[in-house]
Amino acid sequence: MKILAVGRNYAAHIEELNNERPESPVVFLKPDTAILRNNEPFYYPEFSKDIHFEVEILLKISKHGKYIQEKHASEYYQEIGIGIDFTARDLQQYAKEKGLPWALAKGFNNSAPISKFYSKDHFGEINNLNFGLEVDGEQRQQGNTCLMLFTFDQIIAYVSKFFTLKKGDIIFTGTPKGVGPIQVGNRLKAFIEDQTLMDFEVK
Ligand code: MG
Repeated sequence: MKILAVGRNYAAHIEELNNERPESPVVFLKPDTAILRNNEPFYYPEFSKDIHFEVEILLKISKHGKYIQEKHASEYYQEIGIGIDFTARDLQQYAKEKGLPWALAKGFNNSAPISKFYSKDHFGEINNLNFGLEVDGEQRQQGNTCLMLFTFDQIIAYVSKFFTLKKGDIIFTGTPKGVGPIQVGNRLKAFIEDQTLMDFEVK
């Protein structure tokens, strides 16, 4: 399986990082070794001093497809979840300055903690879902899927032109504002609407 991720999909987050608003989705990949499941702890890696959390809604691909039209895209995912796109912001900043890829900054081991997946109807209207992240009991990120620049269906249509989507693939759909650094000892809780779906520690 593969993990596709979309960057710069919420206007307020684009502003906080002083990025440009994209004309088409900004897409990158994480390898399957990035996945961290079952609320296992995240161990702070030695190669970065500035790991940031980015809470994001996940789509799980349920059907093989490429060149999927936007009007058919919703047939290709039946389940959603929540995840964190951990980012080594220092490595990413260096890569941006040098015009280098984000692979190391975004794809390192355990950089993709994910929740269990739930039917896309489970939480309510999929294009109007509140979600967010608490760090040590304090709410740090709060977003709503209605604020996405590119909708779930537009993301599927776009990425499937370049990458054949296969059953089990996961798409990270972008983070709302409020990203910030983690520290050893932090406890992270991610939620959709009023349901906590992830709860794990940084060690
Ligand atoms: Mg992200």
